[in-house]
Amino acid sequence: MTKGVKTVGNMTVAFYPGSFDPMTNGHLDILLQALNVASRVIVAIGIHPGKAPMFTFEERAALIHEAVNAVLPARKGDIKVVSFGNLLVDAARDHGATMIIRGLRNGTDLDYEMQMAGMNHKLAPMLQTVFLPAVAESQPITATLVRQIASMGGDVSSFVPKNVCDALYTKLGR
Ligand code: ADP
Repeated sequence: MTKGVKTVGNMTVAFYPGSFDPMTNGHLDILLQALNVASRVIVAIGIHPGKAPMFTFEERAALIHEAVNAVLPARKGDIKVVSFGNLLVDAARDHGATMIIRGLRNGTDLDYEMQMAGMNHKLAPMLQTVFLPAVAESQPITATLVRQIASMGGDVSSFVPKNVCDALYTKLGR
């Protein structure tokens, strides 16, 4: 039995970090799965100085909220979007989270994620990493490929929520 996972009453707060530039169907799938295992999910957008994103933090946050509202309005109040630029475990603890959510697409993700989960466990043993499996149809999706395909005129409507697709096309003047 794993010791020490702290809950506040029956509330489990999960921290789901990533770039979400922009949110894809893969991200949304993991976020919805996370809501099955946690009472509240904090979507944490990592800010990397020197790396210019396609969408600002405010735009990415709005797209995440809209996408969740469209498919699971009953849980919209259980999601918060924040930014962080410090150590993941520190940011998670600052927000009162007890769980770190990571999505797994394939074995390559697993190798990397196992290493990161191990390091995070050493840094903050009270934070429980939870891996959630990508559904088959979102396994190949990455935000980087979505941006590349969209900027070269491709159809990304099957890879991202409708509101994100519209925002991408608007941003690209299509
Ligand atoms: P990307 O790899 O698309 O740039 P992020 O770095 O923002 O995405 O990833 C944030 C989290 O979402 C990670 O845990 C990552 O494994 C997960 N994730 C990203 N894309 C998918 C997907 N297609 N299916 C499941 N999980 C995903």
